[in-house]
Amino acid sequence: MLLCQLKCVILQPVVYKIDCKNQFKDNNNKLFKSMESNSFQVVNEIFTTKEAIDEAKRCLNCKVPMCRKGCPIDNDIPEFVHQLSMGNMGKAMSIINDKSNLPAICGRVCPHEKQCQGNCILNKKGKSIQIGKLECFIADFDTDMNLIRERIQKNIRGRVAVIGSGPAGLTVAGDLARQGFDVTIFEGQNVAGGVLMYGIPEYRLPKTVVRKEIAKIEALGVNFVLNCLVGENNITVDSLFDEGYDAIFIGTGTSIPMNMNGVKGADLRGVNQSTYLLHCVNSYNEGVISRDMVPINPGERVAVIGGGNVAMDAARTAIRLGADVTVIYRSTQDKMPAIPSEYNDAVAEGVKFMWESSTIDFVGNEKNCLKAIHLNTPDGEKNVEFNRVFLAIGSRPANRIVSTTAGIDVDERGYVIVNERPMGMTTRSGVFAGGDVVHHPKTVVLAMKAAKEVASGIAQYVDAIKLLEDCKKLEEKG
Ligand code: FAD
Repeated sequence: MLLCQLKCVILQPVVYKIDCKNQFKDNNNKLFKSMESNSFQVVNEIFTTKEAIDEAKRCLNCKVPMCRKGCPIDNDIPEFVHQLSMGNMGKAMSIINDKSNLPAICGRVCPHEKQCQGNCILNKKGKSIQIGKLECFIADFDTDMNLIRERIQKNIRGRVAVIGSGPAGLTVAGDLARQGFDVTIFEGQNVAGGVLMYGIPEYRLPKTVVRKEIAKIEALGVNFVLNCLVGENNITVDSLFDEGYDAIFIGTGTSIPMNMNGVKGADLRGVNQSTYLLHCVNSYNEGVISRDMVPINPGERVAVIGGGNVAMDAARTAIRLGADVTVIYRSTQDKMPAIPSEYNDAVAEGVKFMWESSTIDFVGNEKNCLKAIHLNTPDGEKNVEFNRVFLAIGSRPANRIVSTTAGIDVDERGYVIVNERPMGMTTRSGVFAGGDVVHHPKTVVLAMKAAKEVASGIAQYVDAIKLLEDCKKLEEKG
């Protein structure tokens, strides 16, 4: 099923670059306005082979590589950069593969400025090695050239069900498949990838890249069951155990967006979630829905409430749809959780910001549509006219699985509680969890880091129960 979807992908290799407000430039320097289909083309150019090798050669090969310390999954950055500098792409890729199942994605969306690149010694001179772009280059090269042929063990060590195919689920599945487990991913959506597919916008993370990374995980022998929401239609954690799975991993993320239901007017037409906008636009870019189903029309005045990366994605997406966009944030710029580069890009693209401004209520017209937001601002209370507002004020886990399964404890906000021994096991034996559903919304690489640790916990657990089963059989025989 997944392969069939992969075949449907239309490759668009031309790289586009943001030039100035509402205008985008392609490789031939041709300008075009936003709102056209091409405005969702990627904003970060990929290195050519020469550029990548030249960049790798700048690495100082530090005795104590701070870049590696800055990587949450301890990627051996100096070594893969060194191999790249000698043109050894396959070796560079196998070094990355030791730690990451999703390098083409991490290379594009990790907050490098806070991690590897931010820690690079050359950063002091403002010339840090562009590690993210090098990682991307190697991963793309590997995919395009089909370099690596991994030898996978036979699936004999045990059967594991993974619920959710975001970065956490994909990492657990990839790691366990490599270690000889028979893994099946159950995904509620009609496409694998989680937030990578329906959250992060196309211009930052092309969906062709996500599909190719997932195809590599599929090639390790991982099975995908799509359109399968566990916790509904009699598919539960218990029914999966009944089917013979030895362990189950929950990597279901935080799919319930926080709302402003206590605020007057929050139910007006035109008040929506940012994640809904991003999902619609990704579906539109994939050709799944038509343009009129995307909830922004050109020229509309759009507000985004929030100051995190989701708010930046919604604002930059709205700009691309031809809207006049203002981000409303309750605190000051320095307290905004969005990474600085995302904020700078939003400003460069024409997004406006209102600081220290909080919503008192939403004002509607006679047709129950949003007309204005009544705000408390540093200049006092005022009504600011908007056609639409998108909320980006956080999210939390759904309770579909825990409410249909006995014995999985969650905290007061619905996050799954896990143990350290075996690593990542919930209060229900054999059921594990990791990623955003445990540690609150964070980042792709932190979901992967948690998932890698839980994968080793699952392997230990399954080995232990298999050993106990064997001992029991011996006892019965004797
Ligand atoms: P998710 O990615 O949320 O995946 C959960 C999966 O489980 C989904 O596919 C979902 O459909 C599935 N699922 C849920 N319930 C069920 C069920 N009952 N049965 C079956 N399947 C189910 N991080 C970065 O590092 N860089 C970024 O640039 C970045 N940008 C972001 C932009 C947006 C708009 C958002 C929302 C997040 C962004 N993040 C970013 C955060 C990052 O995407 C998440 O931290 C990460 O995806 C969490 O991974 P996960 O696997 O835990 O959950």
